[in-house]
Amino acid sequence: MGKKKKDTGSVSTKKSHVKKTDPMAAPAAVSAQNYPTTDLRAALRADPDLYLGGIHPDDTPGYPGKGKKDAPALTAALGTILSAWQERLYAESKVKESPDRNVLVILQGMDTSGKSGVVRHVFGLVDPQGIKIHAFKQPTKEELEHDFLWRIRRQVPGPGMIGIFDRSQYEDVLVVRVDGLVEPHVWENRFEAINEFELDLARSGTKLIKCFLHITPQEQQARLLDRLSDSTKHWKYSPGDVAARSQWNEYMEAYNDLLVRCSTDVAPWYVIPANNKWYRNWAVASLLLEHLQEMAPQWPEADFDVAEQIAAVSNSLAA
Ligand code: AMP
Ligand code: MG
Repeated sequence: MGKKKKDTGSVSTKKSHVKKTDPMAAPAAVSAQNYPTTDLRAALRADPDLYLGGIHPDDTPGYPGKGKKDAPALTAALGTILSAWQERLYAESKVKESPDRNVLVILQGMDTSGKSGVVRHVFGLVDPQGIKIHAFKQPTKEELEHDFLWRIRRQVPGPGMIGIFDRSQYEDVLVVRVDGLVEPHVWENRFEAINEFELDLARSGTKLIKCFLHITPQEQQARLLDRLSDSTKHWKYSPGDVAARSQWNEYMEAYNDLLVRCSTDVAPWYVIPANNKWYRNWAVASLLLEHLQEMAPQWPEADFDVAEQIAAVSNSLAA
C-alpha cells in the first residue's frame, strides 16, 4: 500500500513529552478526513413497508466509485480507517472505567450470498485479536435441549470486541419456518423474543449491525455451478443446497417478515444488494465504519504517571 510515514499527525498528550501516532490522522487517500462520506445506514435500512422484490440485488446504493474498478482502492482505504477504530475500541475496553462496549455484526443470506466472503474480505482488514467469529450450524442435541437463544447468548462478544455471526438467531424464524421444524405459533413468538433479546444487548453496550446479503436465484445458480466446476470448491457445496433453492419464494417471504418485524431503532436491519461482491464488501465495511464513527471510542488515558515511568525505564536501562 506504499505507506508514507511523514505527517502522521503526532498528537501531544497532556504529559507533553509523550507523542502518539494516530493512524486516523494519516494523510492522503486513507484519511478519515477525506474518505467520501455517505449515509449508508439511511440508504440500506429496512423500512416497515419493505418489499424485497422491489430491491434489485444488482443495485449499488451509496457507492462513491464508478464501479468494480474503484472498489479495491476504496475498500483498502476503508480497511486502514477501520483498523484504527477497531484498535481504539479494543484499547478503550482495557481500562477500568471503560464503558464496556462492543459491536456485533449479524450476517444472513441464502447459500452463496457471501457471508464467509464478507468475513474474509471485510473483517480480514482488521486485527484478528479484536475479532470473534461464530458460524451457527444446525443445532446440536445439547443446543436443542435449550431455548433457541441459549446458544446465541454464549457467543456474544466481550467488551472491546467486534463479533460476527455467520447465521444467527434468525435461522430460527427462517429454515425452521420454511421446513416446518416447529409449529407456526412457536416461530411466530420468536420475533418478539428476538427483539427483546436485542434490546437487552443494546442496553448493555452492544452495537448491532444486521446485514441481509440479497442475491438473485440466478446469481446463486451461477455461484453453485462455479463451486461444482472446481474441485477445490466442492467442500463448500452441499446437495441439500438444491432443496433450499426450490423453496426460494418461501425463504424470501420469511426474510421479508423478519426484516420488517425485527428492524428496530436499536437494531435495524440493512438490506445489502449482493450480486456484486465488490459492492457487498464495500457496503458492509462502510456500515461498520459509520457505526464505529458514531461510537467514537477514544484512546484511554494512562492510569499511571507517564513521566515517572519514563524515568523508571530510563534508569533501568542505565543499571
Ligand atoms: P452453512 O452455513 O452453509 O455451513 O450451513 C449451515 C446450515 O445450518 C444451514 O443449512 C442452516 O440453515 C442450518 N441451520 C443453522 N441454524 C439452524 C437452526 N437453528 N435450525 C435448523 N437449521 C439451522
Ligand atoms: Mg452452505
